[in-house]
Amino acid sequence: MVIVAETAGFCFGVQRAVEMAENTLKDADCPVYSLGQLVHNDTVIHELEELGLRVVDSLEDLLGLPRGIVLIRAHGIPQETEERLTNEGFRVVDATCPRVKHIQRIVKERSELGDTIVIAGDPEHPEVKSIVGRAKGRCFVVPEPEDFLKLKFSKEERFTVVAQTTYSVKKFQKLLAIFHDFCYSPFIADTMCKATRERQEEARKIAIESDVMIVIGSPRSSNSQKLRDVSNEYCSHTYFIQTADGLKPEWFFDAKTVGITAGASTPKKILTEVQIACQNLNKC
Ligand code: SF4
Repeated sequence: MVIVAETAGFCFGVQRAVEMAENTLKDADCPVYSLGQLVHNDTVIHELEELGLRVVDSLEDLLGLPRGIVLIRAHGIPQETEERLTNEGFRVVDATCPRVKHIQRIVKERSELGDTIVIAGDPEHPEVKSIVGRAKGRCFVVPEPEDFLKLKFSKEERFTVVAQTTYSVKKFQKLLAIFHDFCYSPFIADTMCKATRERQEEARKIAIESDVMIVIGSPRSSNSQKLRDVSNEYCSHTYFIQTADGLKPEWFFDAKTVGITAGASTPKKILTEVQIACQNLNKC
């Protein structure tokens, strides 16, 4: 039997960014760029490149190219970068997910009030970089809750705590417990995305029932990595693939139940291909 997660496939933010890119490319009479991958999925990016999108990895490289439209990726970019692009003569089309925008706004406003910002997340992830770029004062990124203990603070310091949209619910609760232990009363913004939570919860339920768990996503996609971690916790035969080509027949020997889930930037087409391939391999 093959169980496919109902929540798998594009989330609202990715769907919106891809539609904005398609509409921009259709109407544009100038070059259209994205600074970094618009969303973390190679197949989606390849399809957009076929429509004319040029993905440029660094701001410096982009500044050397003919002026045109720059699509801001779903993860957002730092405010300083956005201003630089506008000042240098590019037109900016903002496809930042509204949920990421919401965090950027909180961080900007609370840091302007003097709060120290603590972001639970991966400092190397583009979304976190875009959020850090909104902070006006002291700002720290803690990948693990315990990392907070390594930092030095004064007793007078006021905190605002936010989380990367794809951060683990369990770890965020742990971080808040640490604040509580130190008698800090921070302003807490629970900014983990509902789409991410629902996917993690469904992945957990399916993984409990499954002998083999397949997680589809890009290695660069944070929400896909979290799905892999959650699945791995409850099903030791969890495999992480990008497309159906990554499946191996030996994974399915003796497997009665196969679970499938996918990250928020995985197109339905890939999900269906993987589902069909798993059904065939599971019969062998
Ligand atoms: S996972 Fe959530 S925050 Fe990230 S793009 Fe999708 S809707 Fe937006």
